[in-house]
Amino acid sequence: MSRFAVTNTRVFTGAHVADASVVVIEGGTIAAVGHEVPEGVEEIDGGGGTLLPGLIDAHTHTDEDGLRTALRFGVTTELDMMSVPEAMNPLRRRARTEFDLADVRTSSWGLAHPEGHPHQLRRGLGDPVWPTATEPSEAAAFVAGRLSEGADYIKIMVEDGATFGTPLPVVPPGVVAAVVEAAHERGVMALVHAFSARATRVAVEAGADGVTHLHYDEVVSDDLITRMREQDMFVITTLAVTASGASDGAGPRLAADLRVASRLSAAWRDNLAREFAWNAQLSNALRSVALLHSAGVAILAGTDAAHLGAPGLAHGASLHDELRLLEAGGLSPTEALTAATRRTADRFGLTDRGRIEPGASADLVLVDGDPTTRLSSTLNTRAVWRRGHRLARAGATEGRDAEVPAL
Ligand SMILES: [Zn+2]
Repeated sequence: MSRFAVTNTRVFTGAHVADASVVVIEGGTIAAVGHEVPEGVEEIDGGGGTLLPGLIDAHTHTDEDGLRTALRFGVTTELDMMSVPEAMNPLRRRARTEFDLADVRTSSWGLAHPEGHPHQLRRGLGDPVWPTATEPSEAAAFVAGRLSEGADYIKIMVEDGATFGTPLPVVPPGVVAAVVEAAHERGVMALVHAFSARATRVAVEAGADGVTHLHYDEVVSDDLITRMREQDMFVITTLAVTASGASDGAGPRLAADLRVASRLSAAWRDNLAREFAWNAQLSNALRSVALLHSAGVAILAGTDAAHLGAPGLAHGASLHDELRLLEAGGLSPTEALTAATRRTADRFGLTDRGRIEPGASADLVLVDGDPTTRLSSTLNTRAVWRRGHRLARAGATEGRDAEVPAL
């Protein structure tokens, strides 16, 4: 299908509801947004629905299964925050032409202390030896190595283990700062895994572009908020994994939602229904979302959905829960949707997506209802397109699962 129009629909552009009811798609690109249906195009009736840009999950660890599952939930792009290049690169090539996979960007290997996080979680997985930098003088070579593997941005782990109750050696602040500087010299962003206020401060002082988690050990301080705003940093919230760490029951609730369960394999349903349970303080993170957002620090929606076996989350499904949690943190439905579409696209330089406007890529989701006033409608998927290719049998609506794939 190279030319078609979604008609009679509400249109969320990635920033606001447009004065438009028709979106015309030609050759994988959005050709027009307005009220006119061109002569002779195939029409897809969007009556009673809302057309959204394909969603972007700004923090995952993914593979083929992850990309396939994500797309069923309207997540058309995943931003991987650490992967093994030998596995990621072929997958990334396939996602360029296989439209039943979400698209993906990656940091490739992250910078971790040789004895630190996440090695304690990865023993036995057969990883090759991780490249690292232990001195500031090794920073430029570390960054060059990741760029040669195809990294789109650089990821740095600042994790002293307090989060998980296991003390771990951590990348020294001087090395963090040197790697951030080296990344900037090469024109790419440097992002820091920070799950504690102390780690967030290291990221801020190093001049990082963003943090890949919102810490929850305390509510974010006024001083950090001011500095993050002044440095134009962004925060990828990962409230979904924090909720799982806080045993708030979101995973089991989501897994029991027919709109979710009908699109997941049994293994992913079981994975989602379990909880991480490591004593995370979700209420601190939700309070911090409100403070950061009202101060004008950019909030990006990301889940930390990872490979099968990391409990409490599932690719795609958990991003819808992240939206719910952002609303609980004080964002309006349209602000939460922007955090999962246009703002993330802009921050990552993916300006061909995350928006419904002429010239943008036709990564789209059509849902029943109006998620700009009732956010949970995002799960009422009627259709998903990647680059104008409609995903076969993406639909899943509450109480009606006859059309969804048997998995
Ligand atoms: Zn992660």
